[in-house]
Amino acid sequence: MLLCAFTVAVRALGRMNIQMLKNVQMKQVLSKTLLFVGMVLITSLSACAQKQTKEQLTQTTKNMEWNKLTKEEEAVIVHKGTEYPGTGKLLNNKEKGTYTCKRCNAALYRSESKFESDCGWPSFDDEIAGAVKRIPDADGSRTEIVCSACGGHLGHVFLGEGFTAKNTRNCVNSVSMNFVPDKKS
Ligand SMILES: [Zn+2]
Repeated sequence: MLLCAFTVAVRALGRMNIQMLKNVQMKQVLSKTLLFVGMVLITSLSACAQKQTKEQLTQTTKNMEWNKLTKEEEAVIVHKGTEYPGTGKLLNNKEKGTYTCKRCNAALYRSESKFESDCGWPSFDDEIAGAVKRIPDADGSRTEIVCSACGGHLGHVFLGEGFTAKNTRNCVNSVSMNFVPDKKS
């Protein structure tokens, strides 16, 4: 009777041991799997971080290629401000030449497109093809114009005012532009 109980107990213990062994094996397998998954995660995360750093570097390099702006220029070009009307140094410029982006030097307008609108800012009824991007204001009241190349703020565009045959007024801050006179031959 005692022997029988002992045998049963030993068998039970044996089973428990096997079960425990299985558990240990399971744990080892589990921990190995976790380790593997962890390593894969860390590798992909660091790859992602490297990619981000590369993108940031490209951005910085691009920015470094842009012209340095004064506080006044930055207020208009970066923070979309507006220069005081009638004060811009290109407002009354009548020379033949090209108006370029102050920040990235992209050619924006030709002097042939400039006209007198008496609005207080240089006005153009056309831009150099593809040089200027139009972005409707969030409230839909006006349409902002930016340099297509660098996204710098230029001013606003108004249609249907009847100033010229093209019925368009690019109202541009002087401070957003440089003027490059045509070479006299
Ligand atoms: Zn630009």
